[in-house]
Amino acid sequence: MKKPPSDSVPKLRNILPDEPLLLMGAGPVPIAGSVSQANSVVINHLGDTMSKVTIGLQKLASYVYQTDSEKIIGVAGPASGAMEMAIANLLGSNRSVLVLDMGTFSHRWAEMAERVGAEVTVVKNKGIKPVSLEQVKKAYESADYDVLIATHGETSSGVILSELQEISKFAKSKGCLVVVDAVTSLGVLPFYMDDWSLDAVVAGGQKGLGSIPGVSLVAYSIDAWNYIESREKPPAQWCYDSKLAWKFWGDHGYHYTAPVPGVLALYAALDLIREETLESRWERHQISSNALQKAVEAMGLVLFAEEEYRLQSVVAIKVPEGVNGDEVRNFMAKSFSLEISGAFGHDIIRIGQMGEQCRAHNLFKTVYALGMAMQYYGVEVDISKAMAVLEENLAIDPETFLT
Ligand SMILES: *Cc1c(COP(=O)(O)O)cnc(C)c1O
Repeated sequence: MKKPPSDSVPKLRNILPDEPLLLMGAGPVPIAGSVSQANSVVINHLGDTMSKVTIGLQKLASYVYQTDSEKIIGVAGPASGAMEMAIANLLGSNRSVLVLDMGTFSHRWAEMAERVGAEVTVVKNKGIKPVSLEQVKKAYESADYDVLIATHGETSSGVILSELQEISKFAKSKGCLVVVDAVTSLGVLPFYMDDWSLDAVVAGGQKGLGSIPGVSLVAYSIDAWNYIESREKPPAQWCYDSKLAWKFWGDHGYHYTAPVPGVLALYAALDLIREETLESRWERHQISSNALQKAVEAMGLVLFAEEEYRLQSVVAIKVPEGVNGDEVRNFMAKSFSLEISGAFGHDIIRIGQMGEQCRAHNLFKTVYALGMAMQYYGVEVDISKAMAVLEENLAIDPETFLT
């Protein structure tokens, strides 16, 4: 029999830092107290209490999605799992899809679509820009597609699909189902599922919604649900079969054991959005992100994406020449107990602006830590000016940032 591992395998408490690092990267984001509390509770995954939870969660989510659709399904898994559910149910070997590829995350959709045997066409952006309506129209000149997949905020480069609404309406006019990845936009940027005619919208817990990783959401329109009901063959993935998942999310019966604490945490996170209201929350994020961007520029650093296409929820900053982005991030972690994100391919560092990241105390700490790290590695930065600019830009709405 194998012996238990020796003490060289540390106790968990010896692995975790005494003070958790402030998560200022592209996700996961810091969670509010009520979310953390909900996350520590386990109840029976079936029964009256859980039914009240799922019904309430769907109602809160339909507000955040701005949809009248009732077909909102929680997924045990990362946002990629919710992406996989949308793919599994709306695509297959007899289906064609147009994927708008703007970087790592939007590209992942194409990989997933290929794996279920769909006929995949990809439109790529040129440079650090979103795919345009014009490019999409061109793609339809030579073919028709059953599904179009767009990523609202491309987290890897900090670029937003600025023409999402126009692209979606155009695709719908061609009889296409429109699937959108709203992982870094839902709950933080203006988003209207019904008004924008979207058919499946995917969100992860740990980004815009401000919950923990591991429970994600897919919301389907009536058109999408009608297609799912009309499928001849069920999806190959049993766990990601939306009709089976509806047994739990619609009929309150058994599909698989739901990740109960994560579902409760998501409920609490959505409830915070209801309390704050979407309008106030969007405004807080906009002011916060704008102040951060202005401060970073005032320091002397350069933002990666053009202002016109810049994603407000994930701010990408160019790493100055001769500097190693990972070293900067490590310095910030070690000296200030604060983490920001590195990059996928580009020479950038990224700061998240989602949920609790958009609070004055977190912003001041982040900008100061970034400035000190850059200075340490020999970059000439004006930290005092950055702090003053941050203060000025937050002071335009002191009420939001003092509460
Ligand atoms: C983070 C992210 C994902 C993937 O989320 P996981 O939870 O890591 O699977 C997908 N799309 C976008 C836009 C993201 O930012």
